Amino acid sequence: MQGRPIDVIHRVDIPGAQLPVDDPNRVVVLVVGVIHGDEQAGLDVIRELRALLPTEIPANVDLWLLPAINPDGVALNQRHNVNQVDLNRNFPYKWGIIAEPGNWEYSGPSAASEPETQATVEFVKYLRPDMTVWFHQDEFSIAPSTGSDGPLRREYARLTGLPLKGVPGGTYTGVAATWQRKTFTDDTAFIVEIGPSLAVGEALTHARAILSVVSLLP
Ligand SMILES: [Zn+2]
Repeated sequence: MQGRPIDVIHRVDIPGAQLPVDDPNRVVVLVVGVIHGDEQAGLDVIRELRALLPTEIPANVDLWLLPAINPDGVALNQRHNVNQVDLNRNFPYKWGIIAEPGNWEYSGPSAASEPETQATVEFVKYLRPDMTVWFHQDEFSIAPSTGSDGPLRREYARLTGLPLKGVPGGTYTGVAATWQRKTFTDDTAFIVEIGPSLAVGEALTHARAILSVVSLLP
């Protein structure tokens, strides 16, 4: 990394954030705005979530925001980190060798080889979010699921107008959301593929959709 911090925002000003950890109604929600540095629309959704009034956030939701786990990629407006690694192929679940530096899906020299991946893995292990949303672009879709998170994805798609369909192409090993689902099987994690851009008001629609589908968590 080039010394840029990975910031995290905890919306502790919301009612309910101080609930004890063992409160059965507490739901920890994590939103990751950017993992691919040239897909930055998620930052707009993060901005809207930061700006929401406390009364707009369900009282049992403990909301955490990670604007970008790839801050170098954001600064350079590039998909990869500075080691030319696709961070969303570098996570330690079914990590596989994909290509080499310069390839769009280069998965790094080993599983969780990258500092950004390591930091995110440790943070997720610490936080254990009940629900995590990872933003990408620009497939304009959300993949359906036959699992317990299927209804959440369906409702998210309905609320935002995203078609419910799989993402074509690519080799999906070492993917962050999959690592979360397979490592912490009680936890929900899914990817939202925004289109090439967000129209005015759409970021707020996504912010509200995230908080709305929390009620459908299994
Ligand atoms: Zn992406």
